[in-house]
Amino acid sequence: MGGKERHEGKHKILAVLYKAGEYADNKKFLACAENGLGVKEWLKEQGHEFIVTDDKEGPDSELEKQLPTIDILITTPFHPAYMSKERIQKAKNLKLIITAGVGSDHIDLHAAAEAGMTVTEIAKSNVTSVAEDEIMRILILIRNFIPGYQQVIHDDWNVAAVAHKAYDLEHKTVGTLGAGSIGQEMMKRLQNWDLNLLYYARHQNEKIEKFGAVWEKDLDTFLSKCDVVSINVPLTDKTRGMIGKEQLSKMKKGAYLVNNARGDIVVREAIGEALESGQLNGYGGDVWYPQPPGKDHPWRHMPNHAMTPHLSGTTLDAQARYADGTKKILECWFDGKPLPEEDYIVREGELASQYQ
Ligand code: NAD
Repeated sequence: MGGKERHEGKHKILAVLYKAGEYADNKKFLACAENGLGVKEWLKEQGHEFIVTDDKEGPDSELEKQLPTIDILITTPFHPAYMSKERIQKAKNLKLIITAGVGSDHIDLHAAAEAGMTVTEIAKSNVTSVAEDEIMRILILIRNFIPGYQQVIHDDWNVAAVAHKAYDLEHKTVGTLGAGSIGQEMMKRLQNWDLNLLYYARHQNEKIEKFGAVWEKDLDTFLSKCDVVSINVPLTDKTRGMIGKEQLSKMKKGAYLVNNARGDIVVREAIGEALESGQLNGYGGDVWYPQPPGKDHPWRHMPNHAMTPHLSGTTLDAQARYADGTKKILECWFDGKPLPEEDYIVREGELASQYQ
């Protein structure tokens, strides 16, 4: 399996990327449809067919139209091409799906495995970008920054309205739910901030402990000890809805929750209710379901949130890394070489262990 013969010849590759319009003039902005992850010319020179579209929803979309004839699909978590079982079954020639970034939950991974496909990510390409963003969101929430900013743009001035619930982060307990690459990067950055650091994981993890984080193996106990929880696990069958009403009730009253992992790891309505009741003092993140969310998505208008579109992992620095990683994967694939080990999510029909 995976021999040279299988991937020789000309390929038909579809990339689903959002359009950047006027912003595409910045050539560092690789992750948009106009700049095609920087691989357009390179693929053309080799005679491959490379199609880029942002049109991914519904039966008449360009994605649906191209599915039966493409053999490689490139998607990103920022403008996810939702690859349902039906779409995977329709894609008869499709052998490789590359997630340009980290997090492949927009793909039905079981269906992809069943179809014998390979799914890869660009592991670690944006962990720094996300870890930095999480620390920013924690500070934005705990310092009650957003109401102060809104006062300024609305020609207002009311120190009390902000200060009555603004705190320092110092001496608080900050926990990461998940001790993988992003959890570790976050703890590495926070290790000298005079905090109590905790991590919840299924197994003790030496890598995160070297930054002073202490293992808590019981989720409820972990939640009850933290002033701030940051979610850093992938969305899988086991983590979907992992933080709902019951788990939120175990948290300290007035705690903060930051989720840059995936929207569906938390229960949508439970977050709004916890913010309304004051059980949570703030919720921040950049991940939603679906993406883009409808105008009526409740997270747009719930109190005390620090939500943005999905952007923490797509800084220009991150784009350079995952564009480069995408090219490396294509090179390996064309040459019949194994792909970087840590990038595999599904390897020719076999699902990585954390998704099983
Ligand atoms: P990673 O694979 O390095 O770490 C994930 C960790 O979660 C692993 O240690 C794994 O053991 C743990 N885990 C998995 N299932 C678990 C469970 N049921 N209970 C407890 N722990 C569990 O991944 P990472 O690079 O740290 O990224 C984590 C997630 O963050 C990604 O899967 C993705 O969904 C999200 N992400 C978001 C952005 C963004 O732009 N917002 C960018 C990158 C990644």
